Amino acid sequence: MRIALGLLMAAGFVVPATGTAATTVAPSGVPAIDVASPLRTRVGAPEPSIVAAYADAGASDIHVHVLTDAEWARFDTALARLPALHRRILQRHLKRLSFLDLKPGAGSALTARIGEGTGEDAAFSITLRASLLDESLASFLGTKEANLFADDGTGQHLQVEAGALDALTYVLLHEATHVVDQVLGLTADSHAPLMAGVWESARQPVAAQASSLALQTGFRRAPKIPLGKAPAYYQALAASPFVSFYATAAAPEDIAELFAWQQLSACATQAVNVQIRDAAGQVVFTYAPLANRVATARFTQVQQVLGVQGCAGRWA
Ligand SMILES: [Zn+2]
Repeated sequence: MRIALGLLMAAGFVVPATGTAATTVAPSGVPAIDVASPLRTRVGAPEPSIVAAYADAGASDIHVHVLTDAEWARFDTALARLPALHRRILQRHLKRLSFLDLKPGAGSALTARIGEGTGEDAAFSITLRASLLDESLASFLGTKEANLFADDGTGQHLQVEAGALDALTYVLLHEATHVVDQVLGLTADSHAPLMAGVWESARQPVAAQASSLALQTGFRRAPKIPLGKAPAYYQALAASPFVSFYATAAAPEDIAELFAWQQLSACATQAVNVQIRDAAGQVVFTYAPLANRVATARFTQVQQVLGVQGCAGRWA
């Protein structure tokens, strides 16, 4: 069975040290990271085991992507937009960041632990599908959401509005939060502030949430939903503590989504909405993640972790 790559992290996927130069484990058990080096110098080829994970998840024709000058500029912008906390933790813990050209068929991003270091000694790699460098957030989220639904002949279809926002900023916020989570232990136990009242364990939501339609999607292995029923599912999501359907997949995904959306809320001026339109193109339902008051109430806890009330990155 194919596993969405993003879930590998939540499932405790660990990349074994392979003995190559990139994953040589130092005597202390820590893969050598030049912690003084700028984050952009960590961009390069991934561990062979990462490529294998993408292949296992259904990707084919995988190549390391060489960034153009314009792509470097977009990447630098997305890096600068990360909260200061995220940049500080990546500086210490990010071993490698890779862009892969691949035929779609698997997930878009993978954050994985490298070696066996924990806490201060933990090392990570982030691997991203290279086409994210050129993708809009509207296109990225539109594809991700639409995948949950099946055409049912009603003519209803799904569309995401996100202005000129780019996918890379959002995906990097999400993936970097996986590293922050692992280093700080944000989802380490069900009593952690961001977990309490929402998750009983990494994959088990509290009983009050378990029966919500919001948790009956493909992200929790439910079958595709007829598009005509989409409004009922988004209504349930709007009343849940989850900012997106993807957040229901597992606690680490919930926290990664929460931080990404909190920063979009604090830093971006464009509204992001999921719209269900009828055959004539009329909007029949809108889900505005940032109008989900149950989920956005949790932003207070995100701000406490970030140590910043508003935008925590550099969005010039
Ligand atoms: Zn994720």
